[in-house]
Amino acid sequence: MSTAIYWLSKDFRLEDNLSLHRAIGSETELSFVYCLDPKDLTPHNFYSKSLGEFRLRFLSETLLDLQAQLRTFGQHINVVYAPPIDTLDRLTKRHNITRIYRSNNADWNERALFKRFKESHPKVDVICSQTSTLFETADLPFEPEDLPKTFTLFRKRMETLPVLIRQPLPYPTHLPNHVLDIEWPQSLFDKHRRKGSLFRGGSAEASKHMKAYFSGDLPQTYKETRNNLDTWEDSTKLSAWLANGCISPRQVWYSILDHEHDKGENESTYWIKFELLWREYFQWYAYAYGSQLFRFDGINGKKPMTSFYSERFKRWTSGNTSFPIVNACMKQLNETGYMSNRGRQLAASCLIHELQVDWRYGAAYFEQQLIDYDVASNWGNWQYLAGVGADPRGSRRFNLQKQTETYDPNGEFIARWKGESGATSNDSVDAADWPIMPTDTPKGAQ
Ligand code: FAD
Repeated sequence: MSTAIYWLSKDFRLEDNLSLHRAIGSETELSFVYCLDPKDLTPHNFYSKSLGEFRLRFLSETLLDLQAQLRTFGQHINVVYAPPIDTLDRLTKRHNITRIYRSNNADWNERALFKRFKESHPKVDVICSQTSTLFETADLPFEPEDLPKTFTLFRKRMETLPVLIRQPLPYPTHLPNHVLDIEWPQSLFDKHRRKGSLFRGGSAEASKHMKAYFSGDLPQTYKETRNNLDTWEDSTKLSAWLANGCISPRQVWYSILDHEHDKGENESTYWIKFELLWREYFQWYAYAYGSQLFRFDGINGKKPMTSFYSERFKRWTSGNTSFPIVNACMKQLNETGYMSNRGRQLAASCLIHELQVDWRYGAAYFEQQLIDYDVASNWGNWQYLAGVGADPRGSRRFNLQKQTETYDPNGEFIARWKGESGATSNDSVDAADWPIMPTDTPKGAQ
């Protein structure tokens, strides 16, 4: 007898999950599988690994939360620690899997994986649904590969057209029975569970946070506070749950509408929708450009005038540059797994424009560290700042002194994260390999 699996990936929720909804409608047997790729836990070409400590812990909390919800339906998750292609191959052969349900996410590597899998298993039906975007492919007023060249063009088209953002699907009332019973590689997750963090993984926490945020008054002042560097309440803080699919962008969208209905609509409430449209743009951007998202010359074939300087990169990652505001941001990231949007812009601008380091090393480091890492938003934003992406202005270089005066006028953020204690120059040796004298060394001293 043939059976089906549900391939979990960035869609760790039961509510508003079209992929699951379709599986429930068609299957009597369904096994949930999550595959953790060992490759993601080891450093790659850009000196970072994909899944850093914060992300791994968030993932483990997310899986445990989903597991608890599935158990109430007599279901569970099978977690496999092995390369995904081998896992798919093995499961398909051993258990006579003929249908795989999965969410179509923006990750080019995952799409490439399933393309390869389909080539070697043409008889297996891979049923793919859109679960991480506001719009369905069919709702777009253009073919996905003809995505407007800039965010503004995209937003204007989406805002003026009567495009329907569909209502979130309800929480399921029943689930098909499970077949597989694979034991979790528990030790992998255990050691990451104890460290403290601002965010807790899982859709239950996501709903709790979203409800609290939108039932209060904070959305009414979002536009004025969103650029601040350090306070939890200054922006929605929904990104980690959105990035992991613990909540859907539609659930957030409809929560904003409910808030507007109860408390009134203003520029700030509009601006949260505006930011969700940025997210949306980058999701479609990643679909449209595929592997170009990771190319040094990006989507326009223009190579930046940067290279790789290991010492500068190391100083940047550890918050030890000559730019106190950037040091503070990087230390905040290293200690919490989070950095504000403004902080990300400043840190990225510093790496690219002041330290002249290849932007991909920075993007890869953010991928490792950011608890809300999302392939489309991360690599898309980095391309934008490096001038190889969707920015009509070419590239963005921030004046770090001016930005410090605007966003940290009293130096509180820098003091809190000890940003002042950085290096005094970018390098310890000059181009000819001579040691550079620290600027505070007395004249004439060796
Ligand atoms: P809010 O300000 O409350 O915004 C609401 C939601 O809108 C966010 O949760 C997010 O989903 C979306 N959003 C806001 N700004 C952006 C943006 N510029 N691009 C795309 N979506 C946006 N965001 C990620 O979710 N994952 C990433 O890996 C990521 N990497 C980034 C790298 C760089 C270099 C830069 C400049 C930005 C990056 N962002 C990323 C976007 C943004 O910084 C975060 O989404 C935001 O800071 C998360 O905090 P929040 O949920 O409080 O955002």
